[in-house]
Amino acid sequence: MKTTGTRPLHVGQLNLPEEEAFRSAFQGIFDRRFFANHGPLEQQLDAALADYLGVRHAVSMVNGTAALAILLRALDLQGEVILPSFTFPATAQALVWAGLKPVFSDVDPETQAISAGIVEGLIGPHTSAVLGVHVWGRACDPEGLAALADRRGLTLLFDAAHAMGCSYRGKRIGGFGRAEMFSFHATKILNGAEGGCITTNDDDLAVRLRAMRSFHDVVPPVPGLLRMNAKISEAQAAMTLLGLDQLPQLIEANRRRYRLYRRELAGIPGLTFVDHAASEESNFQFVVVAVAGGTAGLSRDALLQVLAEDRILARRYFHPGVHRIAPFRDAAPPELPVTDSLCDSLLQLPSGQAITDQDVLETCARIRTAAGGTA
Ligand SMILES: *Cc1c(COP(=O)(O)O)cnc(C)c1O
Repeated sequence: MKTTGTRPLHVGQLNLPEEEAFRSAFQGIFDRRFFANHGPLEQQLDAALADYLGVRHAVSMVNGTAALAILLRALDLQGEVILPSFTFPATAQALVWAGLKPVFSDVDPETQAISAGIVEGLIGPHTSAVLGVHVWGRACDPEGLAALADRRGLTLLFDAAHAMGCSYRGKRIGGFGRAEMFSFHATKILNGAEGGCITTNDDDLAVRLRAMRSFHDVVPPVPGLLRMNAKISEAQAAMTLLGLDQLPQLIEANRRRYRLYRRELAGIPGLTFVDHAASEESNFQFVVVAVAGGTAGLSRDALLQVLAEDRILARRYFHPGVHRIAPFRDAAPPELPVTDSLCDSLLQLPSGQAITDQDVLETCARIRTAAGGTA
């Protein structure tokens, strides 16, 4: 089942469960003839996620984007929500689905995330919430944003799609703000073959989310609530549970690849690593380098091209900023100079289960040669 040592090399994690465990989990689904509609695996998954993340509730759904849109509706938010432009487009798309107006913020050049200081100036009379993104799994100023949200009467939410298994000051991401969203997309460290969840310590919100993810009456009815079919299937729940079991090993293997990249790419002028905070737990899901224009011997985009010729599919992620893509770009996009500069300089290198140490060494050798050094 493993595709070790084969090209192309991908950036996304694409982690697979052990084949035997996968077969037996799916055999269970077939034996029970229970494929969806809040089966035993959905319930087991919600409990396992809440336990692992140290939160009162995890409500799993069909994917992260739908989960986020449903969360925004469950909170009955109105008006404008401040979020970074330096994120995956789905963060902003979910807001629009929920009838909200995204207000794009620039980010801090060091953390590459929004902070209380940056966001405060964007708060207006219609602002109802702030949606932070834990980019690369690094916590997005949870304390500063919480204090700001309290002071200004705003709801604080986080897109934690990058942050499964990551921590802030010894506490797992998942319990910050009013609620957080995780994704189990195949490119993330926890692969449910699509899937996602909302985590929260708010009992009432959890009841609403459980009602809204389903058109079925299997949960206590909550009058007046708009519902959706966003249930996670038993097949997705089975995949996600298997991934959760493997998570410590997946993180350890990511960490090993990350360290190998750092060692092999050390000392290339103009090439710097995006650090995972040493004092915190990280999932090392992303290996991100910044290529300063010109100094590395060639530009970020030229390096991307050189690698692609070798079927090493490095990625520009995120590119461009969400404020520059349809339908969000308008006649006068906001000035977000830090976001634009990150979009122009960052490159993700292949990682995840299918990437062998040999793949990493070959990728690094290719970069070193392209940058004008010797391999
Ligand atoms: C993957 C991702 C999403 C979307 O999650 P899906 O489960 O694919 O819908 C949202 N935000 C960020 C930052 C992501 O990386």
